[in-house]
Amino acid sequence: MKTYHFKGILQNTGWKENTSITVNHNGIITDISSFDSQHSLPNEITNGFVIPGFQNAHSHAFQYAMAGLAERHEGGTNPDDFWGWREAMYQLALSMNPDQMEAIATMLYAEMVRHGYTNVAEFHYIHHDKNGKSYSNLSEMGSRLIAAAKTAGIGITLIPIFYQKGGFGKKPNDRQRRFISPTIDEYLRLLESSKEACKNYKHANIAIGIHSMRGVAPSDISEIAKSGPQDIPFHIHVSEQLKEIEDSIAYLGKRPVEWLLDTIEMNERFHLVHATHLTDNEITGIAKSKANVVLCPSTEGNLGDGIFPLKKYQEEDGKWSIGTDSHIGINPLEELRILDYGQRLISHKRNIYSSTQQGDSGMYALEMATITGRRAMNNFNTDFFKVGELLNASVIDASSPLITTSSVKNLASTIVYSGNLDIQLGTIVQGKMITSSGNYEKYQTIKEKFIKTMNELKNR
Ligand SMILES: [Zn+2]
Repeated sequence: MKTYHFKGILQNTGWKENTSITVNHNGIITDISSFDSQHSLPNEITNGFVIPGFQNAHSHAFQYAMAGLAERHEGGTNPDDFWGWREAMYQLALSMNPDQMEAIATMLYAEMVRHGYTNVAEFHYIHHDKNGKSYSNLSEMGSRLIAAAKTAGIGITLIPIFYQKGGFGKKPNDRQRRFISPTIDEYLRLLESSKEACKNYKHANIAIGIHSMRGVAPSDISEIAKSGPQDIPFHIHVSEQLKEIEDSIAYLGKRPVEWLLDTIEMNERFHLVHATHLTDNEITGIAKSKANVVLCPSTEGNLGDGIFPLKKYQEEDGKWSIGTDSHIGINPLEELRILDYGQRLISHKRNIYSSTQQGDSGMYALEMATITGRRAMNNFNTDFFKVGELLNASVIDASSPLITTSSVKNLASTIVYSGNLDIQLGTIVQGKMITSSGNYEKYQTIKEKFIKTMNELKNR
């Protein structure tokens, strides 16, 4: 048992000041109650305001090792694009062994925790060895990601990805050899093995993933959606790049999302990653189907993908979460801001975020990222903090200059619009507080292993 006493906790309806949360040894909340700060001051007050732990709904852990490496354009060569970046990513994917994967993922996940993320959905597709042969343990690489999450303390939803093709109707190229499951049966064996691997960590669970419409034969996508497990989330990259849409129209006669809407009965377990380029009909179709979108604003900006039509999607009551994808940015507050500012820049208007929270943009952003993000992890709890659920929270320093002087009314937006790592005291994952300073022994060990690994890979 442990009781935390906070200056305030954010509930779905707003701030509840001077509140204690008690957790049992499993990190499950057993009590939420108020204390009287004037009279019976508890001995151990955490000088913080807590918000729900952030949900990182889209990650490719290995790509953290190449953050910042694809930004050079020496000698005024032609502008680079997504497809050039992808070649650099393939080279990295081919070079990494399981130990290196684990060291990189552990560093990344420790950084995510430091920034307030308590859960990550890992969209994982490096399944095989460097020659493209299966490891004796089919989910060797997935197991390493789970081990990394366990060491860093973050909850993980492992999404072993079905990746089959090198483009619409095209055989995979040799540089994709570590990713490929040629048939549905082989993919289902990988999924089963990955599910077993999740048993090694109490806070790991499984989801289904399709790389993209171009990555798997359409008939196999609809087959997996229909006959695969129905009780776990289904993630897919879709409509990120304009070329992908042109290729889809040429091959299928339909745009990717149009095809999904016409072919698969989507519901709230479906998570469409990016969905950047949509027609009005597709926007309405996604929202009506109750499927969700996962937006990765820092990566989408870095790759020059485009800007998601958020305004129209919100008008249709569409649901979205955030992910850090390539990890060029790992600050959830920054993701929420980039998403909002992209909309403001193209509409020449302010406060685009929907007004379900009495016109409080910060509150709306936190609510949407939390509730839809949890859904991406197969967690359908909609209460920010609730007895019987794990205590996962980001703890904001109540003494930082703008926070300590803010009224409760402006607190959520002050955090979202002006906050960075400097206002973060720590993150409570599964009931345990991990400081955001990085000033603890385990973090130092993780960092040493990461540095050693990067020195071996020599890609930076
Ligand atoms: Zn991705």
